[in-house]
Amino acid sequence: MMTRRDFLSQAAVTAAGLVSIPSPAQSAESVKHLAPPQKPVIVTRETGDNTIDEAYKMLLDGADTLDVCNHICMGREDDPNDRSVGYGGLPNEDGIVELDACCMHGPTRTAGSVGAIQNIRHASLVARLIMERSGHVMLTGLGAEHFAVMYGFKREDLLTDDARKMWLLWKESRSSQNFWGPPMSAPGGKDANPAPSLNHSAIPLHPGPKWAELIRARSQQLTAMAADLGIPEHKRATAVNQILWPTTGTIHVSVVNTKGEMSGATSTSGQAFKIAGRLGDSPIIGAGCYTDQDIGSAGATGSGEENMKVSGAHTIVELMRQGMSPKDAGLEALRRIARNYNGDMTKLRYLDMIYYIVRKDGAYADCSLWSTTASGTPKVFVVHNGAKRIENCAFLLTGTTTN
Ligand code: ASP
Repeated sequence: MMTRRDFLSQAAVTAAGLVSIPSPAQSAESVKHLAPPQKPVIVTRETGDNTIDEAYKMLLDGADTLDVCNHICMGREDDPNDRSVGYGGLPNEDGIVELDACCMHGPTRTAGSVGAIQNIRHASLVARLIMERSGHVMLTGLGAEHFAVMYGFKREDLLTDDARKMWLLWKESRSSQNFWGPPMSAPGGKDANPAPSLNHSAIPLHPGPKWAELIRARSQQLTAMAADLGIPEHKRATAVNQILWPTTGTIHVSVVNTKGEMSGATSTSGQAFKIAGRLGDSPIIGAGCYTDQDIGSAGATGSGEENMKVSGAHTIVELMRQGMSPKDAGLEALRRIARNYNGDMTKLRYLDMIYYIVRKDGAYADCSLWSTTASGTPKVFVVHNGAKRIENCAFLLTGTTTN
């Protein structure tokens, strides 16, 4: 029943043009009172540059949490040697770099996203521009590019020479199925009756005794082709690996400051050699990134198609709202990915997924589908909460992804 006091306060907000909205249900006692952390917290991946330390200093100096996320993303977008983000990212199957990004700003409860944008390197800033200067949340392709250019972003070719040669290697290595690469008449040209090419999908899912042998044979073949394409010796192994196991990478950053304000941002060139126009999880609000100013922020890198099917970042934040810890929430989202494959390990080993999670009180976790990288080292992430540290991810499955 409405008391007189309820009625008067309702009348006051209505007079001010506001409606009193009941808070969304917070089912667990623990999340009703998430006090801000004593120190800001950043979770992301290792960037190999100084942007994480710089970003932390920005937080201490009172910068907006989204400025901080953008600062780290821009470092990756500018790095020509980062094959998974911005300038230097690997192109789509037509040889064109298409970028995806999104962001959420906790304090204003706003979101922006850009998909399949070409010719503009700072996709994370374009996502923010769309959030701040349009009545939309998401723009894609030519429309997004035009919008960014109208606000002063410069067009440039994002395909570096190294990435172009990797793409040529990928294209020519499929030459038994197309016309790219030296013809049959050329010395060492394609076989008139080629054996089925050992491309990514043709590598058997069940690693048996033949598996390592097939990979070795394919690596040798690709290395010779890389030399033929003029890829310098010290870059050949990297190029070959990009063809055998097309890159995953991406940058996600989630941040909370000492006022409890949060933001998240994600930026990527997406799956290497994807079909033109493909959008991954990174521009999808709720998959690649989700921030709820009441609860926390989460984001993802890895197999985008799998993450989209479980709305990973949103799922994690909602599970935290129900009282789960960041780690339990992240592992539960991963369990849903595994469930979509009925736990079939022979298929799951081709997937890679890492969630970056920070709760409003500064509790954090990083959860990986697999415990180790292809080279057998633990999956790690970076946290900065006063000092920058590399920590091992929590994981769902023990073992190594092929990615
Ligand atoms: N999640 C990205 C995508 O699917 C790729 C990645 O993180 O490596 O586009």
